[in-house]
Amino acid sequence: MAGEVRPITLVGTPVLHSPCRPVERFDDELSALVDDMFASMYAAEGVGLAANQIGVDLRVFVYDCPDEDDVMRRGVVVNPTLELPGVDERRLDDGDEGCLSVPGAQAKLARPDHATCHGFDVKGDPVTVEGTGLLARCLQHETDHLEGRLYIDRLPTRTRKKVLKESEAFRAEVEAVTASPAPEPRSETPASPSPDR
Ligand SMILES: [Zn+2]
Repeated sequence: MAGEVRPITLVGTPVLHSPCRPVERFDDELSALVDDMFASMYAAEGVGLAANQIGVDLRVFVYDCPDEDDVMRRGVVVNPTLELPGVDERRLDDGDEGCLSVPGAQAKLARPDHATCHGFDVKGDPVTVEGTGLLARCLQHETDHLEGRLYIDRLPTRTRKKVLKESEAFRAEVEAVTASPAPEPRSETPASPSPDR
């Protein structure tokens, strides 16, 4: 993978909470950004990633996510617009949802089980992605990100608070592990008395 793994921005970081700017130039800089986004998504073991999750306020997301037939679908959508079935035709999927920017927590969130995303690929050619199953959820979750909205913003207040608390506890635990002193280097000499004693 050509891209560089970049740190994932966390809930509370301003870039996650305001709408991203449309991409105007389909150039090498955009290609490099998309490479970094794929690398960062795979490193974090996510199925989708929006540009503001690595701190860039541009309307781009990448995905590598199974659809309802468990077929992995991979791609990038620049300047996406989301199309959902009409209120009378939609079926809701009330599965669990989580987010790399709110690590260590999940919550049930009902969303339409079918979604279509229109936009452009990295070269500026039009693309349409039709999503079912987890991919339908992913397309909605990622376009939400680009509007400055996290999935927790769609949860009832109590659930939202619970998710944030769980995520804070998870992060504190991760930080404690990372900050603890490194284990003593293993001694090169054997611990048992040497035979000539
Ligand atoms: Zn997310």
